[in-house]
Amino acid sequence: MTESIATILLVDDNPGMIQLMGQLLRGQGQLRFAPGGIAALKQLRSQPIDLVLLDAEMPDLDGFGVLREMRADPELAEVPVIFVTGHSDPEVEVRGLESGAMDFIAKPINPPLLLARVRTQLRLKRLSDELRANARVDALTNVANRRHFDEVLSREWRRAEREGTPLSLLMFDVDHFKKYNDRYGHPAGDGCLRAAATVMRELVSRPGDLVARYGGEEFAMLLPNTEQDGADLLATRLVERIRDLAIPHEASTTDAVVTISVGVATRAGLEPIRPDGPQALTECADAALYAAKHAGRCQAWTQLLGEPGTLRPVQPSRETVTP
Ligand code: GH3
Ligand code: MG
Ligand code: MG
Ligand code: MG
Repeated sequence: MTESIATILLVDDNPGMIQLMGQLLRGQGQLRFAPGGIAALKQLRSQPIDLVLLDAEMPDLDGFGVLREMRADPELAEVPVIFVTGHSDPEVEVRGLESGAMDFIAKPINPPLLLARVRTQLRLKRLSDELRANARVDALTNVANRRHFDEVLSREWRRAEREGTPLSLLMFDVDHFKKYNDRYGHPAGDGCLRAAATVMRELVSRPGDLVARYGGEEFAMLLPNTEQDGADLLATRLVERIRDLAIPHEASTTDAVVTISVGVATRAGLEPIRPDGPQALTECADAALYAAKHAGRCQAWTQLLGEPGTLRPVQPSRETVTP
C-alpha cells in the first residue's frame, strides 16, 4: 500500500458505534463496515484490508473468534487488528493481545486516542508492506527474486491442481555469458541482465504473470492459466526481442549480439493430480532449456509435463517469418 490510500474495516454489532468511528476516522483511509464477526471475515476475504477495528463482543462470532480465524488463514494472518472493547479489564486486554491483536481501545471511545492509535498502526502497516515488498525483489534487476518465485510457483501449482487450469513456465539463460563478462567486464554484464529483465517485464501483460531472477543469469517466467501455444509464442518473442536489443557480443559463437535460450514447460489443464510437486515443472523447463542450448542456442524448446516424447523446438512465430 505504498503511497496508496489505506483500507480500514470497522467491525461492531452496534450501528451507532460504527457510525461514530466512521465519523472519527473519516480522512484516514477508505472505510469498510461489518455488523458482525461473520460479515467481517467475509469482507476480509474479498478485498485487501490494511487495518481492522474489531469489537470484542458480538453475538454471531465475537472478536476473539474473528482473530482466531484470521491468524489461521495465511492470507489474513498479517492484517493488523485493534481490539475495541467495553471492558477496561486488564485480563480481557491481555487475552486480546495474546490472540494477536496489535493494540487495544476501550469504550467509550476517546477520539484523539482512537485517531492516534489508528495512525500508528497504519504507519507500521505501510512499513511492513514495504519491507515485505523489498524482500521479494531482486536488487539488480528489479524483478522477483528466487524466494518469491518459489512461493508463487507452489501457490500457482496448487491452484492449477485445484481448478484444473493449465500452468506454463519459461526458463531463460543468457548464451555465452561467461565470455561476455570476460570480454566486457562484470558491470557491463550486470547492465545486460538489467536490460534483459526490462524486456521480460514489458512482454508479460496479465496480472498473474511473474518474471523472476532464478539464478545468476537465469530468469523464469511463470504464466498461470496459459496453454503451451501461448507460452511458446511468448518464448519466441523473448528470443527475438533480446536479440533485437542488439547488445554487441563479439565473443559469442552464436551471434554477434547477446542472445538467450529458452525452455518452456506446460502443465496441461485438467491434468490429474501428480505425485510430484511444482519441482517437476522447473525440471521439465530446465530439460527443454538444455535441449535449446544443445541445438545451437538463441532458440526456444518446449515440452508438456509428464510427456518427454513431446520435447521439440518452438516454431518461429508467424510475425517473424520473412516472405
Ligand atoms: P551458455 O551459453 O552455455 O549458457 O554459456 P554461459 O557462459 O552463459 O554458461 P553459464 O550459463 O553456466 O554461465 C553463467 C555465467 O553467468 C557465470 C557468470 O560469469 C555469469 N553471471 C552469473 N551471474 C551474474 C551476475 O549477476 N552478473 C554478471 N555480470 N554475470 C553473472
Ligand atoms: Mg458489541
Ligand atoms: Mg546459466
Ligand atoms: Mg548462460
